[in-house]
Amino acid sequence: MATDARGAGGWDELLASDGELVGPGAEWRSELYRIAVAQFDRAADLLDLAPDLRTRLLEPRRALVVNFPVRMDDGEVRSFTGYRVQHTLSVGPTKGGIRYTPGVSLGECAALAMWMSFKCALLELPFGGAKGGVRCDPNRLSVSELERITRRYAAELFPVIGPDRDIPAPDMATGEREMAWFMDTYSQQVGHPVPEIVTGKPLVLGGTAGRTTATGLGVVFALEAVLEHLGWELAGQRVVIQGAGNVGAVIARELHVRGARVVAIGDVSGGVVDQAGLDIPALLAWYGEGRFLRDYPAGDHVGRREVLETPCDILVPAALERQIDGENASRVDCRLVVEAANGPTTPEGDAVLAEAGIPVVPDVLANAGGVTVSYFEWVQDQQKLFWRSEDVARRLAHQLRQGLAGVLEASERLGVEWRTAALSVAVERVAEAARLRSIYP
Ligand code: NAD
Repeated sequence: MATDARGAGGWDELLASDGELVGPGAEWRSELYRIAVAQFDRAADLLDLAPDLRTRLLEPRRALVVNFPVRMDDGEVRSFTGYRVQHTLSVGPTKGGIRYTPGVSLGECAALAMWMSFKCALLELPFGGAKGGVRCDPNRLSVSELERITRRYAAELFPVIGPDRDIPAPDMATGEREMAWFMDTYSQQVGHPVPEIVTGKPLVLGGTAGRTTATGLGVVFALEAVLEHLGWELAGQRVVIQGAGNVGAVIARELHVRGARVVAIGDVSGGVVDQAGLDIPALLAWYGEGRFLRDYPAGDHVGRREVLETPCDILVPAALERQIDGENASRVDCRLVVEAANGPTTPEGDAVLAEAGIPVVPDVLANAGGVTVSYFEWVQDQQKLFWRSEDVARRLAHQLRQGLAGVLEASERLGVEWRTAALSVAVERVAEAARLRSIYP
């Protein structure tokens, strides 16, 4: 561990004797932030980044925590907590998703915002990273409650967001519907329609062709490019996918169409396995009616984490963070991991996979299709000129291939695995922007 502004001992020195965090970084304490810091440190060490730049890139530039009341359907008033973290303001406005989950926290958003900065830098998109969310269980809320939460949260964020400041997008449990409410709330505040305040909107409100499928399709494009590099055929590969939501479902459908054999897929309730290959169109049609996979009437059933241990060629975690860790990584039975979710592998999990010779296509590359097409949407909104879906897909594939080329080049040059290579390319770009802008005043 190199000396940096957190002290010579790095993370440990943030812990006072009573276990409380002290000093820089204390506000962001979370397991996910620890992981983001560990990954960042490897790249920063390789780049021999100056201590002051390390601290500037580790600590989010700006964060907002809001508590707001919402009237529930039964007339009761409940208080909700929301977050928005903007990681770096050096390169342009910030960009990042909004998630509705019971566990979202300031520290989780800080880690995810940092990864967004590096994802944008790797793909050469002119944004810093951001992330936000509302702590709630969306499965227990009605549509009208979700609408009131979204509108009030959008109004609370008003001072820090804007088309040239910070542009939200969908993430876990949010989608086109929430983005439409968000855009409407912001537009009501300023008195005219502002489509470019969010991405991932419905087409008729200024959304782009291909945004809803962009993250999943981007994962598939990145995988195709990686397989070309490895000299493997995609057709016939056995694939396991954890997550059947916005991202996982698209990956399953697109891989099935390309001749891969999806042998297992899981959701929050559990997984379904069939080594002969699942009938993905039938399964997705059934799941799309709002049911849980534990009730799917075909295949063998396993637990939601067990699905990750299903023998396969390509394992795609596409649900949530911290799924492959030091405890279960040795039981993962695949030849390649493709991180569709953000932060699905812990540093301890990474070490076990590296030891076993299993390469990992890191999240900052694999799932960057979402923010790339969000960037396309923002550009189209500003120009009031819209592209055809073929153009969106072509540009997306091109951008991801360029991103992969940069990762492979850095991996070769620096002699490191793909995650550290990707972060080295990205951290170097963000650090250069911060260095050139220097310090105000
Ligand atoms: P989603 O809410 O649409 O779907 C999440 C899926 O994961 C669901 O099938 C859910 O049942 C499952 N799941 C939830 N908790 C689980 C658990 N404990 N174990 C197993 N499965 C579980 O979310 P999404 O938009 O598909 O996002 C999935 C991942 O992709 C997240 O890590 C997100 O940050 C990342 N991501 C999403 C986008 C995007 O555009 N939506 C972009 C980049 C990255």
